[in-house]
Amino acid sequence: MIQIEALHKTYRSRKRKKCHALRDVSLTLPDKGLVFVLGKSGSGKSTLLNLIGGLDSITDGRITVDGNDLSHLTEKEYCDYRNTHIGFIFQDYHLIDELTVYENVALSLDLKRIDDAGAVGRALRTVGLESHADKYPLELSGGERQRVAIARAIVKQPRIILADEPTGNLDNATASSIIRLLHSVSRDCLILVVSHNLREAYSFADRIIELSEGRIVSDRSRNADFSDEVTLSGDKLVYPDQTPLSDRDIDTINQNGGKQMIRRTDKFIATQHSPALSVHTPILRRRLSAKKSLKLSGQFLKNKVFAILLSSFMVSLIAIILALSQTIVSFDAGEVIATEMAEMGERSISVYKFIDEEQKLALDSRSREFYSEISDDEIELYRRAGYGGDI
Ligand code: ADP
Ligand code: MG
Repeated sequence: MIQIEALHKTYRSRKRKKCHALRDVSLTLPDKGLVFVLGKSGSGKSTLLNLIGGLDSITDGRITVDGNDLSHLTEKEYCDYRNTHIGFIFQDYHLIDELTVYENVALSLDLKRIDDAGAVGRALRTVGLESHADKYPLELSGGERQRVAIARAIVKQPRIILADEPTGNLDNATASSIIRLLHSVSRDCLILVVSHNLREAYSFADRIIELSEGRIVSDRSRNADFSDEVTLSGDKLVYPDQTPLSDRDIDTINQNGGKQMIRRTDKFIATQHSPALSVHTPILRRRLSAKKSLKLSGQFLKNKVFAILLSSFMVSLIAIILALSQTIVSFDAGEVIATEMAEMGERSISVYKFIDEEQKLALDSRSREFYSEISDDEIELYRRAGYGGDI
């Protein structure tokens, strides 16, 4: 369960002007279901999702997830929260073009240090793409790419999926099928979806939250008592609003002639807030293993596109290990790398920065500026480890 209390988010513009993206937002969100977030452009929808997903810092207020106050998490727990408890789906898919559909989905599990071909297969089956596993994103349609992104999100069985305008680039029919898919996935986890499509919200949402100028202006949930049919309630006929009458409805009216007709209750009614039952579930720390990082780097090499992506993070780690080896213990980082390479049967290696999921997702051609250049010392390290190819 997510509890949001008096959440404020302000940004400062270049001219130091304050922009209130969110103002005094309080919400309790359940563990499961499909929640639509509606509102005009600039109303704070993305900001709300980013704060829940830990992609941006809170200015004031509190977000508690399963009893964990996000602002009290250590850096590592926060990273783990983002990587393993949250699934992100974006308008422009954020897939890695150099990896196959299967590899894009499997990458999500690598962060949980799980190597589970079965889980990847199941996720691809759920989104109907099992026969496309070996294709590359650029060989797929927009709808199929978004399905890959959904598979990548669900394969790690996150508690929350945050989908920011997932249908923004899709035609109506494809958009509908994506929302339908999210609706079925939302039986197992909470999905917050930003959309502009009211019709879809009314068809599929369990709850609709509307934002305007950073505030919640409406919060409605599907009415369990709502019926799409004409029904008899006591001595009155209740008829559906805005829904064409079916033959069966007309029969019901004819059979109950003379009875008073009343318009049915609304499909969505104000969300009832039940007292919060906050059960504390610790955020467990999981990280990508060094071996996995190297293995992943090998995969990039196989694609021949990422010849070497050198991570300043990994390199500084190696540098620290090297420094330690010189001062405290007798330890040769080059030997460690050489052993890893021998074990994996790789003739060459690359190492890349792997700080968190966001950066992983950003591993595309547009975002290479994330990665620092390789220094001569670092090249020397790989040469000593036995790498004989070009760097
Ligand atoms: P929406 O997703 O509903 O279109 P956003 O949450 O992206 O709205 O933005 C809400 C408000 O916050 C807007 O006025 C936007 O200009 C501002 N904003 C969002 N991100 C930033 C940022 N990084 N820096 C400055 N202002 C921002
Ligand atoms: Mg937005």
